[in-house]
Amino acid sequence: MKLHEYQSKDLLSRFGVPVPAGDVTSDPAQAAGIAKRLGGKVVVKAQVLMGGRGKAGGVKLFDNAEEAGAFAKELIGKRLVSIQNPSGMIVEKILVAEQIDIAKEFYVAVLLDRAAQRNIVMISAKGGMDIEEVAATDPEAIVKIPVDPAWGLADFEIREGLAKAEIPANVRGQMVDMIKRLVRAYAESDAEMIEINPCAMMPDGKIVAADAKVSIEDNALFRHADYKATSAESAEDPLEEEASKRGIAYVRLGGDIGIIGNGAGLVMCSLDEVNAAGGRPADFLDVGGGAQAERVKSCVELIMMDSNVKGLLINIFGGITRCDEVAKGILAALEELNLKIPVVARIEGTAADEGRALLRGTRIVPAETMQEAAGKIVELAYA
Ligand code: GDP
Ligand code: MN
Repeated sequence: MKLHEYQSKDLLSRFGVPVPAGDVTSDPAQAAGIAKRLGGKVVVKAQVLMGGRGKAGGVKLFDNAEEAGAFAKELIGKRLVSIQNPSGMIVEKILVAEQIDIAKEFYVAVLLDRAAQRNIVMISAKGGMDIEEVAATDPEAIVKIPVDPAWGLADFEIREGLAKAEIPANVRGQMVDMIKRLVRAYAESDAEMIEINPCAMMPDGKIVAADAKVSIEDNALFRHADYKATSAESAEDPLEEEASKRGIAYVRLGGDIGIIGNGAGLVMCSLDEVNAAGGRPADFLDVGGGAQAERVKSCVELIMMDSNVKGLLINIFGGITRCDEVAKGILAALEELNLKIPVVARIEGTAADEGRALLRGTRIVPAETMQEAAGKIVELAYA
């Protein structure tokens, strides 16, 4: 789950990471009040979870509270569109923060590097800009320090990385301190990513996190009740938001063949098979173990909210899940949603015979194997 900038800064400041003073609001009048309290010289920042926010006009500097308030009024409720997010996002909240003088901008991040099989710290003296762009044009400018899972990170390793990244010597002490706090915040908050871009150096040589992005591992959200409450609203896609409300593991993939399976591995195999058969999967959806008819229906309903879906593939291997329960769910969904699109079901395992018997004589097309199911749904959907 991605946290908003204001939430990320709150979290990081609890670990002693320096962040500029500021407050969040959804009310323009209040925004002017916050700006006044901060002395008028502020930055107004849209709290939207999208890349390229600054370039999209979501970040603006002001010298006085009146102008900041006027901009806040204009910004709240507006749709911001960026290259990274062409469909855009509506601004609901804004952060009004003390404006800092920036002499230099750095990049610092802590994230999981799957290839390295460990967490890493990433540092660059080329902060402020899109890090993907730096990675593409000047990969040498990004230094990666692996965090040993047993020993953690020693000060000398951080110092070595800072020197290699050509971070000015006068701020290295502060950076070592900040990075250690970031690594601690990362571990203790169950984060999967923390990114500070820019990590700003002020003219007096002090460093501060001028922007912050924290993402919390979804599977650890039960330990973070405060964020869990806002997890559905933070989804970037309305369907993923709905899925999160329903407690369904769903990822929209943009194609037109709806896919439901049980178990992440089986769902991924199904995606591969649909792809191999020439189809474009619309989603990844794992109904989970022991799914009851009601839940299966809810999953079908969710997939059908995507108007691109032309066909539905259901691939279940019953272990804890009973195939007759799944069949009941499919039938209930078929009836209630008045499904017109082709549906192919491959069900195997616990109570498969009962399940198949329930589906016999209905418009659901049975398949013996995953490959056959994928082939059939592609044929029927694109007919
Ligand atoms: P992003 O576009 O979503 O990454 O938004 P950022 O918060 O990173 O802001 C974009 C850019 O605006 C930064 O790289 C800075 O150059 C500038 N900026 C943001 N906050 C301040 C500030 O307080 N003072 C100054 N001088 N510039 C700022
Ligand atoms: Mn930024």
